[in-house]
Amino acid sequence: MPRMQKRPYVEPVRRKCATCGKIKLVEHRSWTIPPAKKPTTYVSNTKKRKLRKDMPGVSVTNYCSIECAGDDFVNNYTERDFLR
Ligand SMILES: [Zn+2]
Repeated sequence: MPRMQKRPYVEPVRRKCATCGKIKLVEHRSWTIPPAKKPTTYVSNTKKRKLRKDMPGVSVTNYCSIECAGDDFVNNYTERDFLR
């Protein structure tokens, strides 16, 4: 049994970048998930849980690089943000 839990492997895909329009390896994705209309219970069993991409109303935007993805993807926390 491995001690470390492995992150699910994400297959590298080539998609059109939403910013520069080039077909490149997708490095960043922006998920747009609509708010749930009815209360949903969290399903911890990943085999029972729906995949994020299979949820209704979910759209994904692909970006080839952090530059194209924009500032939202850049971690710009400062030390002060943690002093609350
Ligand atoms: Zn790009």
